[in-house]
Amino acid sequence: MKIAVINESFPRYNFAVHKMKKLFVAQGHTVEFSRRADMWAKECDKAYVSVIFTWDLPKACQDINNLRAAGVEVEVGGPAATAMPAYVFENTGVMVHQGLDERFEHVRGDDYRAVFTSRGCPRACGFCIVQKMEGRKMIEYEDYDIPAGKNPYVCDNNILLTSWAHQQTFVDRMRNVKNLDLNSGFDDRVFMKDMDRYWDLYRNLKMESWRFAYDKPEQRNAIKICSDFLHTKGIEYRKITVFALVGWDNDSFVQARERLQYLVDLQVSPYPMRFRPLDSVERNYIPPGWVKGRWRCCSLITEWHRSGGHILGRSMWPITRRKRRKRNSWGRCRWRGYDY
Ligand code: SF4
Repeated sequence: MKIAVINESFPRYNFAVHKMKKLFVAQGHTVEFSRRADMWAKECDKAYVSVIFTWDLPKACQDINNLRAAGVEVEVGGPAATAMPAYVFENTGVMVHQGLDERFEHVRGDDYRAVFTSRGCPRACGFCIVQKMEGRKMIEYEDYDIPAGKNPYVCDNNILLTSWAHQQTFVDRMRNVKNLDLNSGFDDRVFMKDMDRYWDLYRNLKMESWRFAYDKPEQRNAIKICSDFLHTKGIEYRKITVFALVGWDNDSFVQARERLQYLVDLQVSPYPMRFRPLDSVERNYIPPGWVKGRWRCCSLITEWHRSGGHILGRSMWPITRRKRRKRNSWGRCRWRGYDY
């Protein structure tokens, strides 16, 4: 059988399509690995379409229709399809596969760039797809692989909420992986409860950075405690990355900027995460009360901070004339042009 495996969210690494490819090849099928419904995909008997981001859904639906018009049987899945199954059905007539697919979940491989050692997260944050995709129950895997490549990463949603035995085994197995990206990072609300124990365990990893998140007000104090602790261990700001959700739940630009400044003052590296609703295919979503360009301002905070700009003092506002000229020459971000 000829099977097309399509990653609609290319160039983003899509773990699922790599597992599908491996499985189908092992089963003796001919696999066309593609990013769109191209002429080779249209010649296949069946196509598996995987979509990570909701803003990729319009083109994915177009591809699904083209494939079906060419007589190809189509299955659709992935986080975006799980988030908006009705949209896919309305535009293609295809029922999506929602959530994880057990047919592919445990396909082993030695060349995956990303792996999961656990699934699920009990926190169920309103902006997060994990509860829909994987559920709220933590599931620990034993049969996971070691990620490969230059930037190997582990995508577990909340590793600190897995059992201690799982975490110990995990660190044991990953301790020789260089430049490991523990992508979703550590839950600061859990980390702060037993910092010495977590430090003793996770310092054995060759991690690219200690990642945390500051998405909700309840994390304000937690992130301070964790970052202060890591500073006492000699971890400098470039090695502490804090994801900060921006634009969610009536978050204003002023509030977002204040949170990012708070992180700068804590001497960590803020990483603004742009909120996009799970039920929208709009890529450049602008939160209510925001104007175009403010998101760019938030991301510039990170860029400047990482380049060392914040070291000059507590505040990056106002900036020096020389730096302001440089910013303005970039065109889109005029720090003083907003009414904050
Ligand atoms: S803690 Fe993280 S993974 Fe868990 S629901 Fe919240 S955002 Fe998602």
